[in-house]
Amino acid sequence: MIFSKKKITLDYTVEKCSKCGMQRKRKFSDGDVLFSECSKCDSCDGVYFIEKIFGETLE
Ligand SMILES: [Zn+2]
Repeated sequence: MIFSKKKITLDYTVEKCSKCGMQRKRKFSDGDVLFSECSKCDSCDGVYFIEKIFGETLE
């Protein structure tokens, strides 16, 4: 019997504050570019940068 599974890949973006080092993970959205500035930090006056973009495969 041939058994086929559909794999779903979810892309995530890891943002890191350049000042305090806080990290957060969120779903990848179109236009995310590695090392680009994305948003203001909530806990300090730094700015979050995109540190990593990765995909997770769900089976
Ligand atoms: Zn910060």
